[in-house]
Amino acid sequence: MQHHTVPRRHDVVVVGGGPIGIHVLSRLVEDGVVDAGAAALVDPHDEVFAQWNTRAGNCRMPFLRSPASHGIDPDFRAIRRLASGEDQFTPPYHRPSVQLFRAHLENRWTSIADSVDRRRGTVSAIDRDGDDWVVTVSGGDSRDTLRTAAVVLAPGQPPPRMPVALSDMPVTAPVYHTHRDLLPEFAPGDRVAIVGGGIAAAHLATTLPERHVIVDLWNRDRFTTWQFDSSPCFVGPRCGTLFREIADPWHRRDLIARSRRPGSVPADLNDALVRHRRNGQLRVISVELDAAAAAGRGVLLRGRSVAARGARRPLAREYDAVIACTGFEPGPPAAELIAALAAHSGLALAPDGYPVPRHDLSWAPGLFLAGALAELEVGPPARNLVGAHLAGRRIVPGVARHLGAERDARVTRARRPDGYVAPPGSQP
Ligand SMILES: Cc1cc2nc3c(=O)[nH]c(=O)nc-3n(C[C@H](O)[C@H](O)[C@H](O)COP(=O)(O)OP(=O)(O)OC[C@H]3O[C@@H](n4cnc5c(N)ncnc54)[C@H](O)[C@@H]3O)c2cc1C
Repeated sequence: MQHHTVPRRHDVVVVGGGPIGIHVLSRLVEDGVVDAGAAALVDPHDEVFAQWNTRAGNCRMPFLRSPASHGIDPDFRAIRRLASGEDQFTPPYHRPSVQLFRAHLENRWTSIADSVDRRRGTVSAIDRDGDDWVVTVSGGDSRDTLRTAAVVLAPGQPPPRMPVALSDMPVTAPVYHTHRDLLPEFAPGDRVAIVGGGIAAAHLATTLPERHVIVDLWNRDRFTTWQFDSSPCFVGPRCGTLFREIADPWHRRDLIARSRRPGSVPADLNDALVRHRRNGQLRVISVELDAAAAAGRGVLLRGRSVAARGARRPLAREYDAVIACTGFEPGPPAAELIAALAAHSGLALAPDGYPVPRHDLSWAPGLFLAGALAELEVGPPARNLVGAHLAGRRIVPGVARHLGAERDARVTRARRPDGYVAPPGSQP
């Protein structure tokens, strides 16, 4: 007798094991929308939160920028409850230490880790097959498919942006991007150029000199000072409603651009920069980077000074290593996947290539977006930790409705042998 194994069907597949993906997944389980055993998580790294941990470690940041209430637990007191002492926070806004925040992330994941179907790999395609989504996971040489009723896409940020001058360097050259590479330990006396002027650059520029690394900060623009990297007004209903009243995705994008503050630093970090400059521990060079070349085991940087009025003086300096802290590309994360989905499933894209989701953050029935991908609906805080909550609040009921409608349709189909499915809301 032949036995046919029916492929396992999940209720939900979450793509991306970062703080935002795990927030949505754990909330779906906690709210009883899905059983942990009917959920899968796909992420290419060995450990969840790997990207966040690497990037925060690279920047050597001791405390978060956002308050302790911005964790990934729906209970806004979760981080405070976990703390063992006040020294794990810093003013203003009672911001938690990175160590405490990491423990909080782990706590949240541990609550579901044993039951969730964890797959290591990158989602390379998502296709519709009847009522199901079929998710293709590629990892190394292998390929795997997952069949599911719902998908939540939380793939984080677009790729790191490398300055043009540094983008064609030989792979052996000591050129790093703080969001792409695991930074090496530098030795006392090493000469390091940091290129960029945001929070990552500022953290590195203030922590490396403490280990007697000689640091030049190549910064084209002046530092701007803001406590948060996006206007908090959009977290609440006042600006949030204003944002959602805008119909045109172009205008929404414009408002997001005006409300986000990439390249800004909080006041305490700005003070530390000023202190380090005064002490002679840090040199800030107002310069436009033009070119880079390998020089022995190091790198030669060339640029033009932008501080002096009139003539722009050329500048050339050699370093043992160069670290780009230049943020992310402007397009959507998982761009190829998004473009392919839009093309073959006819889904709405804005002119900037970002998806245009509905209010419940579904882009198609059963396909939900979180983080940067949901920015045109969630607004300026979408990429932040608080953006996870704003997305979760809409996605969790959205998935519940979708699974409920799906079950109803299956029951109706089972009753009607001809396969007729009554339209939603009609009498059977
Ligand atoms: C150093 C640093 C400090 C920050 N501090 C703060 C702060 O204080 N407050 C705040 O609000 N925000 C902060 N942020 C911003 C934001 O909270 C983080 O970027 C956060 O990591 C976003 O979580 P995420 O889940 O969207 O992305 P990520 O942590 O990047 O996780 C996304 C995951 O999805 C995976 N993935 C991508 N594509 C695929 C695919 N096709 N298939 C499978 N998996 C895929 C990625 O590999 C990654 O593991 C900070 C960011 C950084 C880098």
